[in-house]
Amino acid sequence: MQSSADVVICGAGIAGAAAAYHLAVTQQFSRVVLVDEREPFTLTSDKGTQGYRNWWPGPDDTMFKFVSRSIDLLEESARENGNVFRMNRRGYLFATADEDQMARLAATAHQVSGFGMGPVRMHRSAATYAPAPSDGFEEQPIGADLLTGEQTCGAFPFLAPDTLGAVHVRRAGTLNAVALGNWMITRAVAAGAQFVRGRVSAVATDGGRVREVRLADGSTIATDRFVIAAGPALHQVGRLLGLDLPVVHELHSKITIRDSGRAVPRDAPFVIWTDPVTVGGKALPGGVHMRPVDLAHGSELYLIWTYETDVRPYVWPPSFDARYPDVVLEGSARMIPAMSAYAGTGSTALLDGGYYCKTRENRPLIGPLPVEGAFVVGALSGMGVMSAHACGELVSAHVAGTALPDYARWFLPSRYDDPQYRALVEEWGPLVGQL
Ligand SMILES: Cc1cc2nc3c(=O)[nH]c(=O)nc-3n(C[C@H](O)[C@H](O)[C@H](O)COP(=O)(O)OP(=O)(O)OC[C@H]3O[C@@H](n4cnc5c(N)ncnc54)[C@H](O)[C@@H]3O)c2cc1C
Repeated sequence: MQSSADVVICGAGIAGAAAAYHLAVTQQFSRVVLVDEREPFTLTSDKGTQGYRNWWPGPDDTMFKFVSRSIDLLEESARENGNVFRMNRRGYLFATADEDQMARLAATAHQVSGFGMGPVRMHRSAATYAPAPSDGFEEQPIGADLLTGEQTCGAFPFLAPDTLGAVHVRRAGTLNAVALGNWMITRAVAAGAQFVRGRVSAVATDGGRVREVRLADGSTIATDRFVIAAGPALHQVGRLLGLDLPVVHELHSKITIRDSGRAVPRDAPFVIWTDPVTVGGKALPGGVHMRPVDLAHGSELYLIWTYETDVRPYVWPPSFDARYPDVVLEGSARMIPAMSAYAGTGSTALLDGGYYCKTRENRPLIGPLPVEGAFVVGALSGMGVMSAHACGELVSAHVAGTALPDYARWFLPSRYDDPQYRALVEEWGPLVGQL
């Protein structure tokens, strides 16, 4: 089959869906084709914890502005569609039992507040602290609440009794990424876009510009604009254009368990224990995360703890460490003592996850590529769901040639051509912005 399109997007994860939405709906390209070899959202986008936050500590305010713009767009869309993707505003709660860690959390809160997160509220009594609602996102405070001493366990009685304090980030919460992506594709299709199931196997160029996208089944789509939104296959698809995109991969695992004993109230926020925890005699870094799945409904919890961040090749399906569920359950019991009821039950947990596709400094790649008519939206690491809306808006502005926001230049693939920028990247290191 031969066909033609204004733009072909390779990949129907959350990035490709957002690109299709903004190309078809915002920029009004009438013939957008979204190609994927799998069902949409089944590679990475349905495997994460689907959280969002405007908590983006340094090195500067670039990521803060970018993700804040995405949250603005998420809120606009949620208002438009009756919140079909169940965006809530429960917040992220960073808790600690360590004084130094508490001081660091407070300093970071003031830094992000300086970027525009909103005020940092200290509370003399629990009465001035406004708890988050279980559902919905409207009319909620911004900024962060700094809870100390008894206020912390007063507000969150499920935390370890020696918890010294916590920072509750308020423009934050979770959503359903598959529902968000489905809504974006549905709106794009209503505006004329088409979804095609197939594997992009080649991209023909002529005179240094894109001319045709070829699928593994032999069909072709004539086009002069091609957007790579291939998630962890970004590098492979880049190779089809002779490009070597600067990304690496980390495998991130997650478990889902049934909290049949109600260790955690169903209205809990996304809780993160910042302190290192020793499991099986081994000290593991801080960062155990827990959140209820599906709002107040059901009994499932997501748990995640990235205590290993080694770079590895993208291989699908991945193989996960069978010990991971028990390690995470044990770690979570340090933060929430009632979780100890599940110690040793790791084999009954659902273990899954996916790859963080990342650049060296953990910032996305969004913009034009050296082959004319080719663009990329990817390297979304652990922020692809929360940033998707702004990613789609930005890549579609590049494709259409419309005005770009001031953060655009920091995501250009060509940024590495600048030796000064490359030096900065080395200084920052690879874990910038990663929780
Ligand atoms: C454990 C875990 C926790 C996470 N938690 C969060 C979180 O709390 N908040 C957050 O914002 N983000 C989170 N993330 C990150 C987020 O899930 C990802 O950044 C995001 O899903 C990436 O989306 P994507 O569209 O780039 O990639 P994907 O979802 O992987 O989509 C890429 C698509 O491209 C297709 N494709 C590839 N090659 C081809 C080809 N040649 N032809 C056709 N199709 C092709 C694939 O089939 C796939 O469907 C988490 C990720 C993990 C793994």
